[in-house]
Amino acid sequence: MENSLKTYKTKRKFSETPEPKGKVLKKKEKKLIFVVHKHFARNLHYDLRLEMNGTLASWAVPKEPPITKEHKRLAIQVEDHPLAYAKFRGVIPEGNYGAGKVEILDNGNYELKYADSKKIEFILHGKKLKGNYVLIKTSYVKNGWLWFKV
Ligand code: MN
Repeated sequence: MENSLKTYKTKRKFSETPEPKGKVLKKKEKKLIFVVHKHFARNLHYDLRLEMNGTLASWAVPKEPPITKEHKRLAIQVEDHPLAYAKFRGVIPEGNYGAGKVEILDNGNYELKYADSKKIEFILHGKKLKGNYVLIKTSYVKNGWLWFKV
């Protein structure tokens, strides 16, 4: 897992976008946070972000997040985002990376049960997303993972 905000910063013009510049943070609080953004970019998608190593590991999910065990969602891993991004909502202006409205679909604490480079097991404690989830790396798509509930 990339643990750096270099790519995040390279992609954005902070003089134009209201998104947080952020930094890698080491929190004192032990509880981990997650957020799912609903992102009205050129293609509507959802962004799953899990706190890991002082940043938000992030995946773009083309379909609605899995609510039941029947849903298996493709999740494309994207650049790590700063922890401050968990509170971000607003409009990324035209001409900027990810232009469009960003809403928070759900957020809260989560528990990390297991993580390696190919598999992540976690429990979400959100308002809409609750329970045991898994992300598994898939070789079919570049940076592709499958996200589902167990
Ligand atoms: Mn997005």
